[in-house]
Amino acid sequence: MKKSFLLVPILLLNCLSLFPKTFYVATTGNDSASGSLVDPFATIMRAQKSVEAGDTVYIRGGKYIMTENQITRNHRIWAEVNVLNKSGEPDKRINYWAFPNETPIFDLCKIKPENLRVMVFYITASWIHLKGIEVIGTQVTISTHTQSECFHNEGNHNIYEQLSMHDGQAIGFYLLKGSDNLILNCDAYRNWDYTSEGGRGGNADGFGCHPQPGGINNIFRDCRAWFNSDDGYDCIRASESVTFDHCWSFYNGYSPNFIELGDGNGFKAGGWGLQIDNRFPDTIPMHTIQFCLAVKNRANGFYSNHQPGGSYWYNNTASLNGTNFNMLNRTKDLTADVPGYDHVLKNNLSYASRTYDTQWIDSTKCILENNTFSVPIKVTKADFQSLDQSQLISPRKPDGSLPDIKFMKLKKNSKLIDKGVDIGFEFSGKSPDLGAFDY
Ligand code: CA
Ligand code: CA
Repeated sequence: MKKSFLLVPILLLNCLSLFPKTFYVATTGNDSASGSLVDPFATIMRAQKSVEAGDTVYIRGGKYIMTENQITRNHRIWAEVNVLNKSGEPDKRINYWAFPNETPIFDLCKIKPENLRVMVFYITASWIHLKGIEVIGTQVTISTHTQSECFHNEGNHNIYEQLSMHDGQAIGFYLLKGSDNLILNCDAYRNWDYTSEGGRGGNADGFGCHPQPGGINNIFRDCRAWFNSDDGYDCIRASESVTFDHCWSFYNGYSPNFIELGDGNGFKAGGWGLQIDNRFPDTIPMHTIQFCLAVKNRANGFYSNHQPGGSYWYNNTASLNGTNFNMLNRTKDLTADVPGYDHVLKNNLSYASRTYDTQWIDSTKCILENNTFSVPIKVTKADFQSLDQSQLISPRKPDGSLPDIKFMKLKKNSKLIDKGVDIGFEFSGKSPDLGAFDY
């Protein structure tokens, strides 16, 4: 009898912790509050103290003007503003989500730590999910070589969804460590580091993914990058393969009034620099770039950036880039630039480059199937429903997915329909079409 009396409260306690809890953060909140809907916290850092695996933090809409007393930690060369270091568990993520139909905007314009790089969200946690957060105005205070970052991931199994990083001087999303992360439906735009190294903006990419050994299975899906002063997507010095799927990249390497700035590649898939160092991988990773769109980037649309090996390029569409597809490689010992080898290019569409449709492809050392430039097929404007670039920045759909646009979608009767080779993706009609959009 006595035993069962004791068991009841213990069981109750155990059950209570099984139910996920919900906390709230609001611009009108207070960190000594309870964190409830009517009594919200003021900061994500306070909410993190209360959460456990499976819990959700809803962030109410409005502008959070961050101040320097909210820097969690100054560490080495970094000022880390929000440090997310509490992990969820498999199938019990910790969620930091925008409150439904509201947009929380974190404005970093007042955080200008002297001689420190700004990291707005530094994430070492795993199994967390960030959704619907906007970061603007991130600063650079250093005039020599440097970079600031909006989201810096070092964790595993995280989801970054519907994030928007814009009108700052920082890289939008940055990864050096961590595996199995999904970056979904995110936008990085109008980021220009005009402070460091003469204001050329050569480090402000929209998305940077440079995983160290073990950082496998990181995927960028349905993201957009435009008017970032350096590249749209950059995975130079990646020891592991990175996948870009259904991502758009346009106007990178330019200011919003088309002043020429940094490197300006749509997708910079690889590269290692000029010397073999201790991070140089035994096996050169082959990146995958599929169903992506690159338009009017200052330099190249799809670029292998002196990579000492090939990548997989499937069903991409490029237009109005300096060069649409530039497969420039370097020898395995990094001593010389050579025409691209070991690349697999299938079903790609090139139209109206500013200079070259393709450059640096050694067709005897690559697999080329059914690309407009390898068949070849002459592409004309009559193949497309629209060439109106303004559609590229149309608002996303309510669920965060990419807008339905007509830009560079194939017209009925286009000769590019059903001209692709089956590489295992779903398609309509008799065969896959060429380019990023199946008719
Ligand atoms: Ca870059
Ligand atoms: Ca088809």
